[in-house]
Amino acid sequence: MAKSKSTKSSKSTKQTKTQKQVAKVAKKAIKKLTPKQILAILVVVVIVVAVLVALYFIKPELFAFLKRPESPPARQNNAISEDLAFEAHFINVGQGDAILLRFADGTDVMIDVGVAGTTLNPKADVEVMLLTYLEDVGLDAIDYMIITHPDTDHYNMADAIFDAYDVRTIYANNVNKNQTYNTFLQDAKDEVYSVHGHYDNFIGIGAMGKTYEITGENFTIDIYAPGYDRLGNADENYTAAESNGMSPIIIVTAAERRLVLAGDAIIATEEWFMDEIEGTSYDIEGTSYDCDFLKAGHHGSDTSSGDAFLDFITCEYVIVMADRDHSHGHPHDVVMERFEERSMPTYVTEDHGHIVLKVDKEGNFVFEVQYDVPASNNKDNVETYMVVVSGP
Ligand SMILES: [Zn+2]
Ligand SMILES: [Zn+2]
Repeated sequence: MAKSKSTKSSKSTKQTKTQKQVAKVAKKAIKKLTPKQILAILVVVVIVVAVLVALYFIKPELFAFLKRPESPPARQNNAISEDLAFEAHFINVGQGDAILLRFADGTDVMIDVGVAGTTLNPKADVEVMLLTYLEDVGLDAIDYMIITHPDTDHYNMADAIFDAYDVRTIYANNVNKNQTYNTFLQDAKDEVYSVHGHYDNFIGIGAMGKTYEITGENFTIDIYAPGYDRLGNADENYTAAESNGMSPIIIVTAAERRLVLAGDAIIATEEWFMDEIEGTSYDIEGTSYDCDFLKAGHHGSDTSSGDAFLDFITCEYVIVMADRDHSHGHPHDVVMERFEERSMPTYVTEDHGHIVLKVDKEGNFVFEVQYDVPASNNKDNVETYMVVVSGP
């Protein structure tokens, strides 16, 4: 090290000497010039400059090397294809929910982000897959996150999301269920604090719930949250049904299409919801809530998707997020039969992998799936699979 340093310094001394000598010679040469010679040199310089300026305007391509490289186009990664009203990504996490909604105005909404995990499909692997998926679709921040209820298969990957993305607003049942969920609640509050410097964007759903509305340029999301004690006993020992029961019914409306997301809502939640919206503007002619797509409650379990609810919302297509390897054996046959009776084509993450519903601005839609399997229960052979169906 020391050696090379000393070599360098002796070299630079030499260079300085040579440069000084050249400068001296040049000074002497200039002194020797007559005024006429100086004038001649000036004239030549002026002519050369004039020619270069003229060339610059006549043949600018010759001077391309002078131009700075153009700055790269602004990042477009938060936009979906411009003919679309929205995309709903039902990401195949196995037994769990992770749903990304992307709207034309750039709003990105995450509904639940959890996995139960199995030996075949461990949580660590699912988390890597999820983050890769979100990166691949170009997600750069999450405007709204809604955690439907305090079961780990709906929120246990939230910390990974908080590490990777800014999450601007978070809705979650503000319930004291157990330490794991309390830790999540604190992380969620810290996340919105880190983005805004205050906690206002953490929306804690209370014991008796509330209806919330998120609106964007051309969409509305209505969140009908029953609250954490309305259907339960409020003693902090929440049973599975009480925990699932606090899932809001979420209605996404865009391009005159409606997507219903039921979390793990149970039949009692569905009944509460039907009472709740009766007589509102959504209750079309007092008969039904006209919807198109249903993310079936509770992974297609028989605790959910009751006949009355299915008849009320009148969805035509179903998405089920489930993994049959998991001990619960979701989706349950009895529920798949309810869908079949209604000729509802049903997409299941276990069979179809990632399921992406795309709705364009005219209301045409298509299901894009990872695996080439026909939709189940497609009794009337509705042409929907990977095909754009004409508008409403
Ligand atoms: Zn669940
Ligand atoms: Zn649950």
